[in-house]
Amino acid sequence: MLNTNRRVFMMQVAVGSTAVIASQAMAQSMVNEKDPQAAALAYVADTTKVDAKKYPKHAAAQKCLNCQLYTGKPADASGGCALFAGKLVAANGWCSAYVKKA
Ligand code: SF4
Repeated sequence: MLNTNRRVFMMQVAVGSTAVIASQAMAQSMVNEKDPQAAALAYVADTTKVDAKKYPKHAAAQKCLNCQLYTGKPADASGGCALFAGKLVAANGWCSAYVKKA
């Protein structure tokens, strides 16, 4: 009887651990502005922080949220971007590859 209870307990722990690992793998992390790819594209998490001298064509209304490459939902604070696979960009972010959503 004791062995059966122990076996059931161990199975429950194994199933629980697998679920935690799976949920962690699914959670995507935010793009870091200092990541090489992000830095190369001048990505910033806040479009108001764009260097206006370097990017004179940038406008405050340009943000990931209304970029063609953004795959997030309009109400979300962050979402996917075709250029940063497996990561999230801020809805209010911007990078030099910005393309206005049609
Ligand atoms: Fe944001 Fe568009 Fe640049 Fe992706 S390509 S980081 S959605 S501005």
